[in-house]
Amino acid sequence: MTSTATDNLRSQIRGSVITPGDPGYDQARSVYNAMHDRRPAAVVRCVDAADVIAAIRFAREHDLPLAVRGGGHSVPGFGTCDDGLVVDMSGIRNVHVDPAERTARAGGGATWGEFDHATHGFGLATTGGIISTTGVAGLTLGGGIGYLSRAFGLSIDNLLGADVVTAEGRLIRASDFQHEDLFWALRGGGGNFGVVTSMEFQLHPVDTIVGGPLFYEVDDAAAVMEFYQEYVERAPEELGMFFAWQIAPPLPFIPEDRVGDLFCVMVTCWAGAPEEADAVLKPFYDVAPVKAQHVGPMPYPALNSAFDGLVPAGLQHYWKADFVRDLTADAIAAHVDHGKRTPVVNSTMHLYPINGATQRVGPEDTAFGHRDKKFAAVIAGMWPDRADNEANTAWVKEYYEAIHPHSGSEGGYINFMAGDDGGRVEANYGRNYQRLARVKAAYDPDNVFALNQNILPAR
Ligand SMILES: Cc1cc2nc3c(=O)[nH]c(=O)nc-3n(C[C@H](O)[C@H](O)[C@H](O)COP(=O)(O)OP(=O)(O)OC[C@H]3O[C@@H](n4cnc5c(N)ncnc54)[C@H](O)[C@@H]3O)c2cc1C
Repeated sequence: MTSTATDNLRSQIRGSVITPGDPGYDQARSVYNAMHDRRPAAVVRCVDAADVIAAIRFAREHDLPLAVRGGGHSVPGFGTCDDGLVVDMSGIRNVHVDPAERTARAGGGATWGEFDHATHGFGLATTGGIISTTGVAGLTLGGGIGYLSRAFGLSIDNLLGADVVTAEGRLIRASDFQHEDLFWALRGGGGNFGVVTSMEFQLHPVDTIVGGPLFYEVDDAAAVMEFYQEYVERAPEELGMFFAWQIAPPLPFIPEDRVGDLFCVMVTCWAGAPEEADAVLKPFYDVAPVKAQHVGPMPYPALNSAFDGLVPAGLQHYWKADFVRDLTADAIAAHVDHGKRTPVVNSTMHLYPINGATQRVGPEDTAFGHRDKKFAAVIAGMWPDRADNEANTAWVKEYYEAIHPHSGSEGGYINFMAGDDGGRVEANYGRNYQRLARVKAAYDPDNVFALNQNILPAR
């Protein structure tokens, strides 16, 4: 970018424009997954929709690649690029709660930690991510799986509307009543359709939950998985839970002599009546001996940030994902075989349930098509040292190759996919893909928003 072009851009932006050589450039270009060491021509820290409009128009006029960043957590590094323009939404992160209507409006750069804090003040919450630093917008646009999915559906099932700057630089509102086709596509279609400056959500009364992790021996993992598969079918929907592999970190509730050992873990979140918690959680204590646990009443935001320390910014990430129809005996055997080799404390496989309220929304009612699957699996390779990239990436790939034939599904959750999974995008949407391609053609025919799990405009 010439200095004249940069000056021109700066003159239109109320936030900041950070270019190579500026103080803070290295910090501004960095994203959560340290594997992506890219050098954009400019990072535009937008503070309002007018900034977003100016940035998009500028990128188009100068034929620059355009990356959009909310919380910065994209594992494939979609929130940055080489030689292009980054629309950084971190300057638009206010969360406004309307307790009477039980709704909240979040800026396009807000994180779930900010969202949960703002709504918890009123004893309210909605389905969001389990790590507080993840962006509300990026997570929601792909679907949004969390502890409350069984009770209240995906994050998109609670989305009431969104303000979007389109590829031609127009601010429009998408909801059930305006730009309905765009609203349908935004609910699962990722960042393909525009830059979201704010999102409005339905909230629910969720205040103190009862939950936390229970650690079991790896030798009991098959029994725990069989129990999970069975319990998830009949447990009350206010129970959120997921299975994980976890090398025990040095925490007060882990026996000192077990720190560094691998366990399988069920993480629980009971959001129903507190007096029912013991009965609902009892089966987790019956399935196998619990070797360590940290289960009890806690504020919902506390559980939603409890694992932040395991996944600080700056790790190397490589992930793979699958939707799972049923956990077959062969699938469980493959999980145990590869789970046992979990290489580092940060790496894991999570198996999230997507039944309950999630399945009461039709598979074609939103762009998120896989409503008939029981689980979303993610093999999340996360490790500190770049020198270990090959070994850790291999663990993820081999684990995925072993479980995928048993998934009963071709697609995976787009927010958990790797950068080399571009070829799976169509499968990720299943029968909704063609409709998404038509909406893409209507709102972004030139594919300006291409740095994402990309949907090509229908021709
Ligand atoms: C540690 C960790 C924990 C996670 N936990 C969960 C979880 O519990 N549940 C779950 O469902 N997913 C989870 N994810 C996956 C997460 O949903 C995706 O990584 C998501 O893309 C992150 O959004 P972001 O805004 O933080 O990321 P970014 O990198 O900022 O954005 C990713 C992409 O989303 C789009 N996007 C972001 N903001 C906007 C915006 N304002 N307007 C338009 N497009 C936008 C863009 O295409 C962008 O490239 C997790 C990821 C990580 C790394």
